[in-house]
Amino acid sequence: MMMKRNAEQILARIHQSCDKVSRDIQEVCPIVVTKNRTNEEIQEVYSLGFRHFAENRVEKLLERQEAFPQDDIVWHLIGPLQKRKVKQIVNRIQYFHAIDRLSIMEEIEKRLESPLKCFLEVNVSGEESKHGFTTKEVFEAFEVAKQYANIDIIGLMTMAPFDASEEEIRQYFHELKEITENIDSEKSLQLSMGMSQDYPIAIEEGAHFIRIGTAWFEEEE
Ligand SMILES: *Cc1c(COP(=O)(O)O)cnc(C)c1O
Repeated sequence: MMMKRNAEQILARIHQSCDKVSRDIQEVCPIVVTKNRTNEEIQEVYSLGFRHFAENRVEKLLERQEAFPQDDIVWHLIGPLQKRKVKQIVNRIQYFHAIDRLSIMEEIEKRLESPLKCFLEVNVSGEESKHGFTTKEVFEAFEVAKQYANIDIIGLMTMAPFDASEEEIRQYFHELKEITENIDSEKSLQLSMGMSQDYPIAIEEGAHFIRIGTAWFEEEE
């Protein structure tokens, strides 16, 4: 019951945020981040009709695919990828959200058998602990990616710092949107941003993919 209520709450908030800025709700895809959850919990969200699932680690994602072989699930890898694990995973997912360095692209391209939708991860806040290109480097990364036939850069991804204020978070998300517009005004790049704590802000600032974990599974405080 709790999960059904959480899901309704999430959908209501997505609606609200879209209304607030006159966006079409179809533009926003909620991803169920399944990390640290049991298969039973995930089954429940699946039964509610959600189909976009994500893990942040390769081993975990592969385990989940074994537990959930349904071919209507869309799999997203949202965490950083080590070179030696690229070949295990890149042909088994539909989206990769975390291209965070130039050196990983070559390996991904080498292993891909068909195009993969990817996001370049941007460290907008500049926190040292965070992965991703700086707001300057990402322009070059976008150019570099063009030489790879199978790496299909569909947008940019970021994470707000845990301790940021609402205004700071909004500023980071806004900045990511501005970067997409400056990088390529024609291609209309998409935005992967927003987690349990900040997805309403992310939607208001233009997010297309929101990566929600905790809010599906836990009682609200
Ligand atoms: C865990 C995780 C999320 C979801 O975080 P919640 O706060 O549980 O919603 C989103 N994005 C990434 C990259 C994650 O690792």
